[in-house]
Amino acid sequence: MKAVRLFGHKDVRVVENMEIPKPKGDEVLLKIGGAGVCHSDLHIIDDNLLPISDFTLGHENAGWIEEVGPDVKGYKKGDAVLVYGPWGCGHCKPCQHSQENYCDHQSENPLGGGLGLNGGMAEYMLVPSSRLLVPIHDLDPVIAAPLTDAALTPYSAIKRSLNKLMPDEFVVVIGVGGLGHTALQILKAISSTTIIACDITAEKLNFAKELGATYTVNSTDPDATEQIQKITGIKKAKVVLDFVGINSTIALGTKIVSLDGDLTLVGLGGGRYDYTMMELPFGVSMTNPYWGSRTELMEVVGLARQKKIHIEVERFQLDEANEVYDKLRQGKIRGRAVLVP
Ligand code: NAD
Ligand code: ZN
Ligand code: ZN
Repeated sequence: MKAVRLFGHKDVRVVENMEIPKPKGDEVLLKIGGAGVCHSDLHIIDDNLLPISDFTLGHENAGWIEEVGPDVKGYKKGDAVLVYGPWGCGHCKPCQHSQENYCDHQSENPLGGGLGLNGGMAEYMLVPSSRLLVPIHDLDPVIAAPLTDAALTPYSAIKRSLNKLMPDEFVVVIGVGGLGHTALQILKAISSTTIIACDITAEKLNFAKELGATYTVNSTDPDATEQIQKITGIKKAKVVLDFVGINSTIALGTKIVSLDGDLTLVGLGGGRYDYTMMELPFGVSMTNPYWGSRTELMEVVGLARQKKIHIEVERFQLDEANEVYDKLRQGKIRGRAVLVP
């Protein structure tokens, strides 16, 4: 079968003759419908985020069950499913709570589960356990694939702050890409907070308006902080969701977040922040959430089935992987790119 594989630093190649795996035990062979293209792949390809290579890329996967291992119960050939990506050991306490994204054993596999192992940018993928599958019923796997990360990650980050997302407050979303464009829709669906969106191009800022942002600010404007402070007034922003995570966006977040606010750093841009007590408003919680839990993925599927969130998808073939990664590097994907075998 065909697969998009990482061989080393910036070395992504489409391989033609990979063997189709055979599921054993509780494993499941999935015929891939779509594999989302996440910016984290670029941190792995370009910035050496993982110390390993030689694996099939793609950690946002959906498709149809092709074959189940002899111990699998409750699934059959043809069922449409998502793959929960950040799988853990399956046995520790966080895993028992379905929070495999915070598995006690994550240090043995730095990014957990499906990152760094053979993923879904291929015709077939071997899923290590049927517990990692979430049925999608009537949803199209191509549209649904990015739910596993581009929707799950912002959903989990937003849920952490739900008690602060009140109708009289402001939330700032920095970066309206794959994750950010879904964050805007999730905020609209589960809160009534006024949304301010930041990005760096007019296209992305217009996109944010279409998705429900009341205000938009270009975060590269020299007076971006003042523009946001003018909108929020003395209250400032109760929640800031940073989907970029570079020095300048983290610095912006610290200046616009309110007392007792949440500054949530989701982007893996490698930014640094030099903490001093008197510069960060008192009571701020700075967190770096990672992905989401299995049950939260089920909730995300519920939002999509109710049509409260919709991933804007640009479809490409496996052979186009390198062109797609280039477009993503240049910020030229609207919503999420999905590779369709
Ligand atoms: P993306 O490329 O689809 O979107 C990034 C967006 O940020 C683009 O619209 C881009 O124009 C915008 N942007 C770039 N620089 C900016 C700036 N200075 N100010 C405002 N906007 C700016 O990326 P994505 O797939 O949505 O991922 C976003 C980040 O989240 C990446 O760093 C990715 O690795 C990370 N991520 C983290 C987790 C996690 O669990 N913590 C999960 C998935 C992705
Ligand atoms: Zn990702
Ligand atoms: Zn575990």
